[in-house]
Amino acid sequence: MTSVRRLAVARLWHEGNSFSPFLTTPREFQQREWSSGAGAAARYRGTATELGAVVAFGEAHPDWSLHYLRLAAAPPGGPVEQPLYERVCDEIVAALAAESWDAVYLSLHGALVAESEPQGDLSLLRRVRQAIGRAPLAVTFDLHANLSPEAGPLVDILVGYKTYPHVDMAETAARALDLLDGVAKGAIRPAVRIAKAGVLLTSHRMRTDAGPMAELEAEARRVMARPGVLDATVFGGFTYGDTPSAGASAAVTVDGAAATAESLAVDLAREIARRAPAFHATLPDAATALRQALATDGPVAVLEPADNPLSGGGADTPGLFRALLAARPPAPTLFAFFWDPDLVARAALAGPGAWITAALGGRLTADYGAPVKVEAQVLRLTDGRYVNDGPMERGLAVDQGPTAVLSVQGIEVVVTSACQAVNDPAWFRLHGVEPERLRLLAVKAKNHFRAAFGQRFAALVDCDTAGPACLDPRGLPFRHLPAGLLPAR
Ligand SMILES: [Zn+2]
Repeated sequence: MTSVRRLAVARLWHEGNSFSPFLTTPREFQQREWSSGAGAAARYRGTATELGAVVAFGEAHPDWSLHYLRLAAAPPGGPVEQPLYERVCDEIVAALAAESWDAVYLSLHGALVAESEPQGDLSLLRRVRQAIGRAPLAVTFDLHANLSPEAGPLVDILVGYKTYPHVDMAETAARALDLLDGVAKGAIRPAVRIAKAGVLLTSHRMRTDAGPMAELEAEARRVMARPGVLDATVFGGFTYGDTPSAGASAAVTVDGAAATAESLAVDLAREIARRAPAFHATLPDAATALRQALATDGPVAVLEPADNPLSGGGADTPGLFRALLAARPPAPTLFAFFWDPDLVARAALAGPGAWITAALGGRLTADYGAPVKVEAQVLRLTDGRYVNDGPMERGLAVDQGPTAVLSVQGIEVVVTSACQAVNDPAWFRLHGVEPERLRLLAVKAKNHFRAAFGQRFAALVDCDTAGPACLDPRGLPFRHLPAGLLPAR
Protein backbone atom coordinates (compact mmCIF):
# COMPACT_ATOMS: atom_id res chain seq x y z
CA MET A 1 0.00 0.00 0.00
CA THR A 2 1.38 3.40 -0.95
CA SER A 3 1.28 6.18 1.59
CA VAL A 4 -0.33 9.52 0.81
CA ARG A 5 2.10 12.13 -0.51
CA ARG A 6 2.00 15.71 0.71
CA LEU A 7 1.84 18.60 -1.78
CA ALA A 8 2.26 22.20 -0.65
CA VAL A 9 0.61 24.84 -2.85
CA ALA A 10 1.34 28.57 -2.70
CA ARG A 11 0.61 31.51 -4.99
CA LEU A 12 2.04 34.99 -5.24
CA TRP A 13 0.90 36.40 -8.56
CA HIS A 14 1.56 39.99 -9.49
CA GLU A 15 2.79 41.91 -12.52
CA GLY A 16 4.50 45.15 -11.48
CA ASN A 17 4.61 48.25 -13.65
CA SER A 18 7.52 50.29 -12.27
CA PHE A 19 6.04 53.45 -13.80
CA SER A 20 2.50 53.04 -12.48
CA PRO A 21 1.32 55.99 -10.36
CA PHE A 22 0.24 53.77 -7.44
CA LEU A 23 1.73 51.07 -5.20
CA THR A 24 0.05 47.69 -4.81
CA THR A 25 -1.21 47.35 -1.23
CA PRO A 26 -2.93 44.64 0.84
CA ARG A 27 -6.27 46.04 -0.33
CA GLU A 28 -5.59 45.10 -3.97
CA PHE A 29 -4.81 41.51 -2.91
CA GLN A 30 -7.79 41.29 -0.57
CA GLN A 31 -10.11 42.52 -3.32
CA ARG A 32 -8.76 39.94 -5.76
CA GLU A 33 -7.32 36.75 -4.22
CA TRP A 34 -6.23 36.34 -0.63
CA SER A 35 -6.87 32.97 0.94
CA SER A 36 -5.26 29.91 2.50
CA GLY A 37 -6.20 26.62 4.08
CA ALA A 38 -8.84 24.06 3.22
CA GLY A 39 -11.47 26.72 2.38
CA ALA A 40 -9.46 27.77 -0.66
CA ALA A 41 -10.56 24.73 -2.64
CA ALA A 42 -14.20 25.82 -2.63
CA ARG A 43 -13.27 29.25 -3.97
CA TYR A 44 -11.36 27.91 -6.96
CA ARG A 45 -13.12 24.63 -7.80
CA GLY A 46 -14.22 24.63 -11.45
CA THR A 47 -12.57 27.97 -12.33
CA ALA A 48 -10.34 28.36 -15.39
CA THR A 49 -7.35 29.28 -13.23
CA GLU A 50 -4.16 27.68 -11.95
CA LEU A 51 -5.80 26.99 -8.62
CA GLY A 52 -8.83 25.52 -10.37
CA ALA A 53 -6.43 22.99 -11.89
CA VAL A 54 -4.85 22.33 -8.48
CA VAL A 55 -8.25 21.49 -6.99
CA ALA A 56 -9.00 19.19 -9.94
CA PHE A 57 -5.59 17.50 -9.55
CA GLY A 58 -6.25 16.87 -5.86
CA GLU A 59 -9.64 15.37 -6.57
CA ALA A 60 -8.27 13.12 -9.32
CA HIS A 61 -5.28 11.96 -7.22
CA PRO A 62 -6.30 10.49 -3.88
CA ASP A 63 -2.65 9.50 -3.41
CA TRP A 64 -1.84 13.18 -2.81
CA SER A 65 -2.98 15.35 0.09
CA LEU A 66 -3.03 19.05 -0.77
CA HIS A 67 -2.04 21.81 1.64
CA TYR A 68 -2.97 25.35 0.65
CA LEU A 69 -0.49 27.86 2.03
CA ARG A 70 -0.84 31.59 1.24
CA LEU A 71 -2.65 32.15 -2.08
CA ALA A 72 -2.29 35.79 -3.08
CA ALA A 73 -2.94 37.54 -6.38
CA ALA A 74 -3.63 41.15 -7.26
CA PRO A 75 -4.30 42.77 -10.63
CA PRO A 76 -1.25 44.22 -12.36
CA GLY A 77 -0.31 47.58 -10.86
CA GLY A 78 2.53 49.53 -9.36
CA PRO A 79 5.28 47.87 -7.31
CA VAL A 80 4.14 45.82 -4.31
CA GLU A 81 4.65 47.61 -1.01
CA GLN A 82 7.91 46.27 0.43
CA PRO A 83 6.55 45.21 3.86
CA LEU A 84 3.66 43.38 2.18
CA TYR A 85 5.98 41.57 -0.23
CA GLU A 86 8.22 40.51 2.65
CA ARG A 87 5.29 39.43 4.79
CA VAL A 88 3.87 37.16 2.06
CA CYS A 89 7.28 35.65 1.26
CA ASP A 90 8.04 35.11 4.97
CA GLU A 91 4.70 33.39 5.43
CA ILE A 92 5.17 31.04 2.47
CA VAL A 93 8.79 30.23 3.33
CA ALA A 94 8.04 29.64 7.03
CA ALA A 95 5.16 27.29 6.21
CA LEU A 96 7.34 25.35 3.77
CA ALA A 97 10.24 25.12 6.23
CA ALA A 98 8.02 23.97 9.10
CA GLU A 99 7.18 20.56 7.61
CA SER A 100 8.51 18.13 5.07
CA TRP A 101 6.89 17.94 1.65
CA ASP A 102 6.87 15.37 -1.13
CA ALA A 103 6.40 18.17 -3.66
CA VAL A 104 5.78 21.90 -3.84
CA TYR A 105 3.83 23.87 -6.45
CA LEU A 106 4.20 27.64 -6.74
CA SER A 107 1.92 29.78 -8.92
CA LEU A 108 3.90 32.93 -9.78
CA HIS A 109 3.55 35.64 -12.39
CA GLY A 110 7.26 36.18 -12.96
CA ALA A 111 7.16 39.99 -13.25
CA LEU A 112 6.70 40.85 -9.59
CA VAL A 113 8.47 44.07 -8.63
CA ALA A 114 8.47 45.14 -5.00
CA GLU A 115 9.37 48.66 -3.87
CA SER A 116 13.00 47.79 -3.18
CA GLU A 117 13.23 44.30 -4.75
CA PRO A 118 13.17 44.46 -8.55
CA GLN A 119 13.42 40.64 -8.88
CA GLY A 120 10.60 39.61 -6.58
CA ASP A 121 10.03 36.14 -8.03
CA LEU A 122 13.72 35.15 -8.14
CA SER A 123 14.30 36.24 -4.57
CA LEU A 124 11.29 34.19 -3.40
CA LEU A 125 12.42 31.14 -5.41
CA ARG A 126 15.86 31.22 -3.79
CA ARG A 127 14.30 31.24 -0.32
CA VAL A 128 11.81 28.51 -1.23
CA ARG A 129 14.55 26.22 -2.51
CA GLN A 130 16.51 26.75 0.68
CA ALA A 131 13.42 25.98 2.78
CA ILE A 132 12.41 22.76 1.02
CA GLY A 133 15.82 21.22 0.41
CA ARG A 134 15.64 18.80 -2.53
CA ALA A 135 11.88 18.34 -2.58
CA PRO A 136 10.51 18.54 -6.16
CA LEU A 137 9.39 22.07 -7.02
CA ALA A 138 7.14 23.03 -9.94
CA VAL A 139 6.52 26.65 -10.86
CA THR A 140 4.16 28.21 -13.38
CA PHE A 141 4.60 31.67 -14.87
CA ASP A 142 2.64 34.16 -16.96
CA LEU A 143 3.69 34.55 -20.60
CA HIS A 144 4.82 38.07 -19.65
CA ALA A 145 7.27 36.90 -16.97
CA ASN A 146 10.64 38.64 -16.84
CA LEU A 147 12.65 35.53 -16.05
CA SER A 148 16.21 35.40 -14.76
CA PRO A 149 18.34 32.47 -15.98
CA GLU A 150 19.25 31.98 -12.30
CA ALA A 151 15.71 30.67 -11.70
CA GLY A 152 16.18 27.61 -13.94
CA PRO A 153 18.46 25.51 -11.71
CA LEU A 154 16.32 26.36 -8.66
CA VAL A 155 13.25 24.51 -9.94
CA ASP A 156 12.43 21.03 -11.23
CA ILE A 157 9.51 21.90 -13.49
CA LEU A 158 8.84 25.25 -15.19
CA VAL A 159 5.75 25.81 -17.34
CA GLY A 160 4.35 29.11 -18.69
CA TYR A 161 1.13 30.21 -20.37
CA LYS A 162 1.20 29.60 -24.10
CA THR A 163 -1.72 31.81 -25.05
CA TYR A 164 -2.23 35.58 -25.08
CA PRO A 165 -4.96 36.46 -24.20
CA HIS A 166 -4.26 34.02 -21.39
CA VAL A 167 -6.96 31.39 -21.70
CA ASP A 168 -4.74 28.44 -20.71
CA MET A 169 -4.04 29.21 -17.04
CA ALA A 170 -5.66 25.96 -15.88
CA GLU A 171 -3.95 23.87 -18.57
CA THR A 172 -0.60 25.37 -17.60
CA ALA A 173 -0.95 24.36 -13.96
CA ALA A 174 -2.38 20.95 -14.88
CA ARG A 175 0.69 20.26 -17.01
CA ALA A 176 3.06 21.39 -14.24
CA LEU A 177 1.28 19.22 -11.66
CA ASP A 178 1.30 16.15 -13.91
CA LEU A 179 5.05 16.53 -14.38
CA LEU A 180 5.54 17.21 -10.67
CA ASP A 181 3.69 13.97 -9.92
CA GLY A 182 6.15 12.21 -12.24
CA VAL A 183 9.15 13.72 -10.47
CA ALA A 184 7.83 12.81 -7.01
CA LYS A 185 7.24 9.22 -8.12
CA GLY A 186 10.70 8.94 -9.70
CA ALA A 187 9.35 8.49 -13.24
CA ILE A 188 11.29 11.50 -14.57
CA ARG A 189 14.43 13.39 -13.52
CA PRO A 190 14.07 16.83 -15.02
CA ALA A 191 16.42 19.77 -15.57
CA VAL A 192 15.29 23.32 -16.32
CA ARG A 193 17.18 26.06 -18.10
CA ILE A 194 16.20 29.61 -19.09
CA ALA A 195 17.87 31.63 -21.86
CA LYS A 196 17.41 35.36 -22.43
CA ALA A 197 16.74 36.64 -25.93
CA GLY A 198 18.43 39.97 -25.22
CA VAL A 199 15.44 41.98 -26.47
CA LEU A 200 12.81 44.12 -24.74
CA LEU A 201 9.52 43.64 -26.58
CA THR A 202 6.24 45.50 -26.26
CA SER A 203 3.18 43.28 -26.20
CA HIS A 204 0.90 45.16 -28.61
CA ARG A 205 1.72 42.57 -31.32
CA MET A 206 2.25 39.62 -28.97
CA ARG A 207 -1.11 37.87 -29.37
CA THR A 208 -0.67 34.17 -30.01
CA ASP A 209 -3.38 33.90 -32.68
CA ALA A 210 -1.23 35.43 -35.43
CA GLY A 211 2.04 37.20 -36.11
CA PRO A 212 5.49 36.66 -34.57
CA MET A 213 4.22 35.17 -31.30
CA ALA A 214 2.14 32.57 -33.17
CA GLU A 215 5.33 31.57 -35.03
CA LEU A 216 7.26 31.36 -31.78
CA GLU A 217 4.56 29.21 -30.17
CA ALA A 218 4.92 26.88 -33.17
CA GLU A 219 8.69 26.80 -32.62
CA ALA A 220 8.11 25.94 -28.96
CA ARG A 221 5.76 23.12 -29.95
CA ARG A 222 8.45 21.74 -32.26
CA VAL A 223 10.88 21.74 -29.34
CA MET A 224 8.30 20.04 -27.15
CA ALA A 225 7.83 17.29 -29.72
CA ARG A 226 11.47 16.21 -29.30
CA PRO A 227 12.11 13.13 -27.19
CA GLY A 228 12.80 13.91 -23.56
CA VAL A 229 11.42 17.46 -23.69
CA LEU A 230 8.79 17.97 -21.00
CA ASP A 231 8.01 21.62 -21.66
CA ALA A 232 9.19 24.57 -23.73
CA THR A 233 7.74 28.03 -23.16
CA VAL A 234 8.35 31.36 -24.86
CA PHE A 235 8.15 34.34 -22.50
CA GLY A 236 7.50 37.69 -24.13
CA GLY A 237 8.42 39.57 -20.94
CA PHE A 238 6.76 42.60 -19.40
CA THR A 239 8.01 45.86 -20.89
CA TYR A 240 7.24 48.13 -17.94
CA GLY A 241 8.91 46.12 -15.18
CA ASP A 242 12.21 47.83 -14.39
CA THR A 243 14.33 44.84 -13.41
CA PRO A 244 17.70 43.24 -14.25
CA SER A 245 15.61 40.23 -15.43
CA ALA A 246 13.72 42.28 -18.04
CA GLY A 247 13.33 41.11 -21.60
CA ALA A 248 12.02 38.11 -23.50
CA SER A 249 13.25 34.60 -22.72
CA ALA A 250 12.73 30.91 -23.37
CA ALA A 251 12.54 28.14 -20.79
CA VAL A 252 12.93 24.43 -21.45
CA THR A 253 12.35 21.51 -19.07
CA VAL A 254 13.82 18.17 -20.13
CA ASP A 255 13.91 14.70 -18.68
CA GLY A 256 17.66 14.46 -18.98
CA ALA A 257 20.79 16.57 -18.88
CA ALA A 258 20.85 20.25 -18.02
CA ALA A 259 23.10 20.84 -21.04
CA THR A 260 20.29 19.63 -23.31
CA ALA A 261 17.79 22.01 -21.70
CA GLU A 262 20.34 24.81 -22.00
CA SER A 263 21.02 24.33 -25.69
CA LEU A 264 17.31 24.02 -26.57
CA ALA A 265 16.50 27.17 -24.55
CA VAL A 266 19.30 29.09 -26.26
CA ASP A 267 18.01 28.02 -29.68
CA LEU A 268 14.48 29.09 -28.83
CA ALA A 269 15.71 32.42 -27.43
CA ARG A 270 17.55 32.99 -30.69
CA GLU A 271 14.28 32.50 -32.57
CA ILE A 272 12.71 35.20 -30.38
CA ALA A 273 15.58 37.63 -31.03
CA ARG A 274 15.35 36.97 -34.78
CA ARG A 275 11.71 38.05 -34.78
CA ALA A 276 12.10 41.11 -32.55
CA PRO A 277 11.49 43.60 -35.41
CA ALA A 278 8.13 41.95 -36.15
CA PHE A 279 6.91 42.90 -32.65
CA HIS A 280 7.36 46.58 -33.40
CA ALA A 281 3.97 48.33 -33.51
CA THR A 282 2.82 51.77 -34.57
CA LEU A 283 -0.46 53.20 -33.31
CA PRO A 284 -2.59 56.26 -34.14
CA ASP A 285 -3.16 58.95 -31.54
CA ALA A 286 -6.53 59.07 -29.78
CA ALA A 287 -8.17 61.65 -32.08
CA THR A 288 -7.13 59.74 -35.21
CA ALA A 289 -8.29 56.41 -33.74
CA LEU A 290 -11.70 57.93 -32.86
CA ARG A 291 -12.07 59.32 -36.38
CA GLN A 292 -11.27 55.88 -37.81
CA ALA A 293 -13.75 54.26 -35.43
CA LEU A 294 -16.58 56.64 -36.24
CA ALA A 295 -16.01 56.13 -39.97
CA THR A 296 -16.71 52.41 -39.46
CA ASP A 297 -20.24 50.96 -39.27
CA GLY A 298 -21.44 49.01 -36.29
CA PRO A 299 -20.22 48.89 -32.74
CA VAL A 300 -16.55 49.86 -32.63
CA ALA A 301 -14.15 49.83 -29.69
CA VAL A 302 -11.21 52.19 -29.29
CA LEU A 303 -8.64 50.71 -26.89
CA GLU A 304 -6.23 52.72 -24.73
CA PRO A 305 -3.37 50.29 -23.92
CA ALA A 306 -1.18 53.00 -22.30
CA ASP A 307 -3.44 52.89 -19.24
CA ASN A 308 -4.55 49.25 -19.49
CA PRO A 309 -5.12 47.94 -15.95
CA LEU A 310 -3.73 44.57 -17.05
CA SER A 311 -0.46 46.36 -17.87
CA GLY A 312 -0.38 48.14 -14.51
CA GLY A 313 -2.33 51.23 -15.57
CA GLY A 314 -4.46 52.96 -12.94
CA ALA A 315 -7.50 53.73 -15.15
CA ASP A 316 -6.56 57.35 -14.57
CA THR A 317 -4.95 58.90 -17.65
CA PRO A 318 -7.22 61.44 -19.38
CA GLY A 319 -5.83 61.21 -22.94
CA LEU A 320 -8.49 59.12 -24.68
CA PHE A 321 -11.35 60.61 -22.63
CA ARG A 322 -10.39 64.17 -23.52
CA ALA A 323 -10.25 63.24 -27.21
CA LEU A 324 -13.60 61.46 -26.88
CA LEU A 325 -15.33 64.60 -25.55
CA ALA A 326 -13.82 66.61 -28.42
CA ALA A 327 -15.01 64.03 -30.98
CA ARG A 328 -18.66 64.46 -29.88
CA PRO A 329 -19.58 60.84 -30.71
CA PRO A 330 -23.21 59.83 -31.30
CA ALA A 331 -25.04 57.86 -28.60
CA PRO A 332 -24.80 55.27 -27.32
CA THR A 333 -21.15 55.74 -26.41
CA LEU A 334 -19.55 54.27 -23.29
CA PHE A 335 -16.24 55.16 -21.65
CA ALA A 336 -14.76 52.34 -19.52
CA PHE A 337 -13.49 53.48 -17.07
CA PHE A 338 -12.00 55.73 -14.39
CA TRP A 339 -10.84 54.37 -11.02
CA ASP A 340 -11.98 56.90 -8.41
CA PRO A 341 -13.52 55.54 -5.17
CA ASP A 342 -14.27 59.02 -3.77
CA LEU A 343 -16.20 59.99 -6.88
CA VAL A 344 -18.22 56.76 -6.68
CA ALA A 345 -19.05 57.58 -3.06
CA ARG A 346 -20.16 61.11 -4.02
CA ALA A 347 -22.31 59.76 -6.85
CA ALA A 348 -23.92 57.26 -4.48
CA LEU A 349 -24.67 60.00 -1.96
CA ALA A 350 -26.21 62.23 -4.64
CA GLY A 351 -28.22 59.32 -6.05
CA PRO A 352 -29.48 58.46 -9.55
CA GLY A 353 -30.75 61.49 -11.46
CA ALA A 354 -28.62 63.99 -9.53
CA TRP A 355 -26.02 66.24 -11.15
CA ILE A 356 -22.52 66.49 -9.68
CA THR A 357 -19.29 68.19 -10.67
CA ALA A 358 -16.36 65.86 -11.21
CA ALA A 359 -12.70 65.90 -12.19
CA LEU A 360 -12.13 62.79 -14.28
CA GLY A 361 -8.66 61.23 -14.56
CA GLY A 362 -5.35 62.70 -13.45
CA ARG A 363 -6.23 61.79 -9.86
CA LEU A 364 -3.20 59.60 -9.10
CA THR A 365 -0.76 61.74 -11.07
CA ALA A 366 -0.95 64.62 -13.51
CA ASP A 367 2.19 63.30 -15.25
CA TYR A 368 0.03 61.80 -17.99
CA GLY A 369 -2.41 64.74 -18.26
CA ALA A 370 -4.50 67.01 -16.04
CA PRO A 371 -7.96 66.01 -14.76
CA VAL A 372 -10.95 66.79 -17.01
CA LYS A 373 -13.54 68.90 -15.15
CA VAL A 374 -17.13 68.04 -16.10
CA GLU A 375 -20.75 68.27 -15.00
CA ALA A 376 -22.07 64.72 -14.74
CA GLN A 377 -25.48 63.17 -14.13
CA VAL A 378 -25.61 60.03 -12.02
CA LEU A 379 -27.36 57.33 -14.06
CA ARG A 380 -26.86 54.04 -12.22
CA LEU A 381 -25.08 52.58 -9.19
CA THR A 382 -23.85 49.00 -8.70
CA ASP A 383 -22.25 46.90 -5.96
CA GLY A 384 -19.38 46.03 -8.33
CA ARG A 385 -19.69 42.27 -7.88
CA TYR A 386 -19.89 39.70 -10.65
CA VAL A 387 -18.63 36.27 -11.65
CA ASN A 388 -16.53 36.01 -14.82
CA ASP A 389 -18.24 34.08 -17.59
CA GLY A 390 -15.89 34.95 -20.46
CA PRO A 391 -12.96 32.84 -21.65
CA MET A 392 -10.43 34.27 -19.14
CA GLU A 393 -10.58 33.14 -15.51
CA ARG A 394 -14.11 31.91 -16.09
CA GLY A 395 -15.95 31.27 -12.85
CA LEU A 396 -13.77 33.58 -10.76
CA ALA A 397 -15.71 36.04 -8.56
CA VAL A 398 -14.64 39.67 -9.07
CA ASP A 399 -15.22 42.60 -6.71
CA GLN A 400 -14.78 46.07 -8.19
CA GLY A 401 -16.18 47.73 -5.08
CA PRO A 402 -19.18 50.03 -5.66
CA THR A 403 -19.32 51.53 -9.14
CA ALA A 404 -21.28 54.35 -10.79
CA VAL A 405 -22.39 55.07 -14.35
CA LEU A 406 -22.36 58.80 -15.06
CA SER A 407 -23.54 60.75 -18.10
CA VAL A 408 -21.13 63.41 -19.42
CA GLN A 409 -22.19 65.28 -22.56
CA GLY A 410 -24.32 62.28 -23.50
CA ILE A 411 -21.42 59.82 -23.03
CA GLU A 412 -21.87 57.15 -20.36
CA VAL A 413 -18.81 56.97 -18.13
CA VAL A 414 -18.17 54.13 -15.66
CA VAL A 415 -16.32 54.97 -12.44
CA THR A 416 -15.16 52.18 -10.10
CA SER A 417 -13.83 51.78 -6.56
CA ALA A 418 -11.20 49.19 -7.54
CA CYS A 419 -8.93 49.04 -10.57
CA GLN A 420 -9.72 45.79 -12.36
CA ALA A 421 -9.74 45.24 -16.08
CA VAL A 422 -12.74 45.26 -18.38
CA ASN A 423 -12.34 41.86 -19.97
CA ASP A 424 -15.49 39.93 -19.17
CA PRO A 425 -19.09 40.09 -20.48
CA ALA A 426 -20.34 40.10 -16.87
CA TRP A 427 -18.72 43.52 -16.37
CA PHE A 428 -21.03 44.99 -19.02
CA ARG A 429 -24.13 43.25 -17.64
CA LEU A 430 -23.33 44.66 -14.20
CA HIS A 431 -23.43 48.15 -15.69
CA GLY A 432 -26.60 47.56 -17.73
CA VAL A 433 -24.78 47.74 -21.06
CA GLU A 434 -25.02 45.47 -24.10
CA PRO A 435 -21.73 45.87 -25.99
CA GLU A 436 -23.35 45.03 -29.35
CA ARG A 437 -25.82 47.90 -28.98
CA LEU A 438 -23.13 50.54 -28.43
CA ARG A 439 -22.09 52.81 -31.28
CA LEU A 440 -18.71 53.35 -29.67
CA LEU A 441 -16.82 51.95 -26.72
CA ALA A 442 -13.70 53.69 -25.43
CA VAL A 443 -11.93 51.29 -23.10
CA LYS A 444 -8.74 51.07 -21.06
CA ALA A 445 -7.61 47.72 -22.42
CA LYS A 446 -5.23 45.94 -24.75
CA ASN A 447 -5.08 42.35 -25.96
CA HIS A 448 -6.90 40.47 -23.18
CA PHE A 449 -10.07 42.39 -24.07
CA ARG A 450 -10.06 40.58 -27.40
CA ALA A 451 -10.55 37.14 -25.85
CA ALA A 452 -14.19 37.89 -25.03
CA PHE A 453 -14.92 40.82 -27.36
CA GLY A 454 -12.79 40.40 -30.50
CA GLN A 455 -15.80 39.00 -32.37
CA ARG A 456 -18.45 41.23 -30.80
CA PHE A 457 -17.30 44.54 -32.30
CA ALA A 458 -17.16 45.46 -35.98
CA ALA A 459 -13.66 46.79 -35.34
CA LEU A 460 -11.19 47.28 -32.50
CA VAL A 461 -8.80 50.21 -32.83
CA ASP A 462 -5.77 50.59 -30.53
CA CYS A 463 -4.50 54.11 -29.94
CA ASP A 464 -1.45 55.48 -28.15
CA THR A 465 -1.70 58.09 -25.41
CA ALA A 466 0.50 59.23 -22.54
CA GLY A 467 0.51 56.61 -19.78
CA PRO A 468 2.54 54.14 -17.73
CA ALA A 469 2.18 51.48 -20.44
CA CYS A 470 2.72 53.74 -23.47
CA LEU A 471 3.81 52.27 -26.80
CA ASP A 472 7.38 53.61 -26.75
CA PRO A 473 9.17 52.66 -23.51
CA ARG A 474 12.28 54.68 -24.40
CA GLY A 475 11.02 57.77 -22.58
CA LEU A 476 10.44 55.91 -19.29
CA PRO A 477 12.95 56.37 -16.44
CA PHE A 478 14.40 52.82 -16.25
CA ARG A 479 17.11 52.23 -13.61
CA HIS A 480 17.64 48.45 -13.47
CA LEU A 481 17.37 47.43 -17.11
CA PRO A 482 20.47 45.65 -18.51
CA ALA A 483 22.54 47.91 -20.75
CA GLY A 484 21.63 47.74 -24.41
CA LEU A 485 18.17 46.26 -23.91
CA LEU A 486 16.34 49.50 -24.66
CA PRO A 487 16.73 50.36 -28.33
CA ALA A 488 18.33 53.75 -29.04
CA ARG A 489 16.10 56.53 -30.33
ZN1 LIG B 1 0.38 38.28 -19.04
